[in-house]
Amino acid sequence: MTQMNSSTGTDRFDVVVVGGGVLGTSVAARLAATSASVCVLEAASDVCEGASKGNAGTACSYYGPPGTLETELINRSYPHWEELCGRLGVAYRRGGAIMLALDDAEAETLGHTLAELDEAGVRGEMKTPAEVAQLEPLANMATVAGLWMPDEGVIDPMALTVAYANLAVTNGAQLRLNAPVTTIRRLDDGSMELATPQGTVRGRYVVNAAGVRAGDVSELAGGEPLRSWPRKGQYAVLDRRFAEQLQRTVFCTHSPTTKGINVVPTTHGSALLGPTAQDLEDAGDTSTDRDQVEALIESARRLVPSITRDVVIKTFAANRPASEEPHRLRFDQTVANLLHVTNRSAGVSVSPAAGAYALDLLRDAGLDAEDRPDAVRALPSTPRLRTATDLNTLFAQDPLYAQVVCACESVSAAEINRALTSPVPACSLDGVRKRTGAMYGRCQGSLCAAGISFLTALHTNTGPRDVKQTAHGTVGQ
Ligand SMILES: Cc1cc2nc3c(=O)[nH]c(=O)nc-3n(C[C@H](O)[C@H](O)[C@H](O)COP(=O)(O)OP(=O)(O)OC[C@H]3O[C@@H](n4cnc5c(N)ncnc54)[C@H](O)[C@@H]3O)c2cc1C
Repeated sequence: MTQMNSSTGTDRFDVVVVGGGVLGTSVAARLAATSASVCVLEAASDVCEGASKGNAGTACSYYGPPGTLETELINRSYPHWEELCGRLGVAYRRGGAIMLALDDAEAETLGHTLAELDEAGVRGEMKTPAEVAQLEPLANMATVAGLWMPDEGVIDPMALTVAYANLAVTNGAQLRLNAPVTTIRRLDDGSMELATPQGTVRGRYVVNAAGVRAGDVSELAGGEPLRSWPRKGQYAVLDRRFAEQLQRTVFCTHSPTTKGINVVPTTHGSALLGPTAQDLEDAGDTSTDRDQVEALIESARRLVPSITRDVVIKTFAANRPASEEPHRLRFDQTVANLLHVTNRSAGVSVSPAAGAYALDLLRDAGLDAEDRPDAVRALPSTPRLRTATDLNTLFAQDPLYAQVVCACESVSAAEINRALTSPVPACSLDGVRKRTGAMYGRCQGSLCAAGISFLTALHTNTGPRDVKQTAHGTVGQ
């Protein structure tokens, strides 16, 4: 590691990563396992505050036609989810997905999708309506055909992003939060100096993983114009009492313009209906609206007719970083040491391979980054009360496991304390939610937020009323 402090007070790194979403942190985690020094600059007060916080967590085996870098990275990623998530302590389930055709035209489209799967070397198989019903008893009985994709999975995307960040920091990466990059100066020696409210850093290489703001970062660095805009996706969340009956992800047939509304069981036992797709101007707009939510519930009922409105416990929205170039992992055409890493709709799914791919590009461009034999590869595991089978052993290991704080999701004080003391600790209620799943359930925190505020206050040296709800406001306000 070659981090140096210059006489001007500017910290120098081999690589500065702008953006602490799933892509920035996955690249940082891979780089931090080498001899290169790494700094991550994140504008928000926690990692995983952009698109990475508001997606379905589908770990795709297939997203689009073969022949693209995105498809190649998905292909490199999906066989390894169990191994990766085992090392990082992140929930993952390879439950498979069934894509439904409800009329003959959709059945024909499924045939095209199957041909693409074959060409990409991804497993897929056409199923009869009776076979569909066996795979997913809740699927619409009126289906004409189904395309079974056994390697589709679901992951906890927030826990994954936090885990990448924890691994990067454990291996020596520096993470600066509340550090929006405001200016970038190109220096005579070819390096770049990035100014933030948390100080100025210098990097020989800059990784632009700023999501929907990637165009702004490119402009600051004098790079090529990258047009990005927010594409809002709204979701409805289903209560686990219904969702736990769902065995598979149920996809609608893709259209040429959209992947449509799907029914996705989460690793927490709930299910997501969505996402919608609406192009916006304002990247900060994550509002939901009644008409869109009603429409998406109706679309989801086409796939799973037993869904009713009373099992919807929450709605939310997030913005994809849309762009004419939906996936970028390449150097800027003007600024030779500026590497763009962005993805509109499958960033979680490409993230396991994105770090290694970025490292190869950086090495080819001259970065000296030897793999370190002493690098940490696995994070300490945090057992989950909800899935534990031997409670007595768990309670003996840490008596705080016996103190249930979030009753809906069975999250204990032990898990919350670990989230508050990890290498990248939670510092708000939302931060605890991202790391533990507390407050995800039917009550949405109305019963447990006070207890979580209290625990958070103990670790962040504030009063419970001053604990932040999110990056933007406090509980007491
Ligand atoms: C509704 C929806 C559903 C999706 N479903 C899936 C799915 O099922 N599976 C899947 O694989 N993908 C899915 N995606 C796509 C996936 O979420 C994105 O591809 C991925 O999160 C992009 O990650 P990122 O790190 O590039 O961006 P982000 O997570 O947006 O992170 C960018 C970060 O950069 C920071 N930043 C911006 N500007 C600056 C600056 N000047 N200085 C410092 N920091 C800055 C931001 O604060 C932000 O934290 C979905 C996306 C959405 C919105």
